[in-house]
Amino acid sequence: MARNKTRSVSVGPVTIGGGAPIAVQSMAATKTQDIEATVRQVELLQQAGADLVRIAVDSRKDVEALAEVRARTTATLSVDLQENYRLATIVAPHVNKIRYNPGHLWHHERDKPVRDKVAFIAETAEANDCALRVGVNCGSVDPVQIEAHGDDDVGAMVASALEHCEILDSIGFERYVVSLKDSDWRKVVEGNRRFASQRPDVPLHLGVTEAGMLPEGEIKTRLAFEQLVPEGIGDTVRVSLTLPFEDKGTEIEAGRRILADIESGRFRSMPTVLDDGLNIISCPSCSRVENEAFIELAQDVRKITAWAKQHDVTIAVMGCRVNGPGETDDADLGLWCGPVAVNLKRGPELVGSFPYDEVLEHLQRELEEIVEERATA
Ligand code: SF4
Repeated sequence: MARNKTRSVSVGPVTIGGGAPIAVQSMAATKTQDIEATVRQVELLQQAGADLVRIAVDSRKDVEALAEVRARTTATLSVDLQENYRLATIVAPHVNKIRYNPGHLWHHERDKPVRDKVAFIAETAEANDCALRVGVNCGSVDPVQIEAHGDDDVGAMVASALEHCEILDSIGFERYVVSLKDSDWRKVVEGNRRFASQRPDVPLHLGVTEAGMLPEGEIKTRLAFEQLVPEGIGDTVRVSLTLPFEDKGTEIEAGRRILADIESGRFRSMPTVLDDGLNIISCPSCSRVENEAFIELAQDVRKITAWAKQHDVTIAVMGCRVNGPGETDDADLGLWCGPVAVNLKRGPELVGSFPYDEVLEHLQRELEEIVEERATA
């Protein structure tokens, strides 16, 4: 397949871009401090053939756990550094790549220029032989870009990615890749096309975030990859699925399956069922998940809403407070997990916080109301 001539970025023994085979990666969905569970998930992903495994780190205790995981695995590791960018200095010695989210970085130490924060991360990466990923999510773009782009949320996502590339280039750090993700595969396609047309040299990490459960999660991801990869766009991929613990390797298998099919010309026709009707998006969960009941909750949401499958309603199910509040705003109904309660939203408005064993009946009621209102409108 023809590929964009991107820069070659080395991540430990793995090369991303520069014509290297498309790397397939995933992320541990465990509490990082649960070292046994995290090591087990890293193993599961490695056994499934992951080129790279990502772990989330939000605190010093997480970093201590990361060091222990590092000592117990040979996997090439990346870290998701979302809230506290200063942790980079103690994280970097243990990993080959650091991902930061420009939207989250904007909110941390707001008085400090973004350029200074990026420089801090880049200098730390440089000193520790690490690569970086600028990981932009459509649901958490910084407010300045959102305001500048109005309704063009994809434009805001692309502008944010371009801004961070410009900052990294200006300080002489070139060892980075970029991702532009959304739960809507069309926005993933549009965002990556727009970005690649302006920066064909920058390696791209492709993925549809919160794609949900099988089989829909794989289908949505496939639709995005089938558009982008044949156009030469994409140097590494992640398939993001909501899966039971021991099945985590399925993400890697799905990624390899999709890429093999594209390479062999085995394209699937557009399943129109995904364009119409009930759309459930759910995150794959990670160390930040607030309650282990999240996976079961996502599965139950699908079960109890099956009656509405002909109705054009989007329900988002998210595992934590980091991405839950923002990523549910665009859905008709959103659930995001807290430690003992689930927050239920209708659009951007909070309906209430309910215990895990009560939230489904409230969700059902709201869904019935939406369907009824639309029928009478
Ligand atoms: S929503 Fe929270 S728990 Fe789910 S994958 Fe994102 S950060 Fe992890």
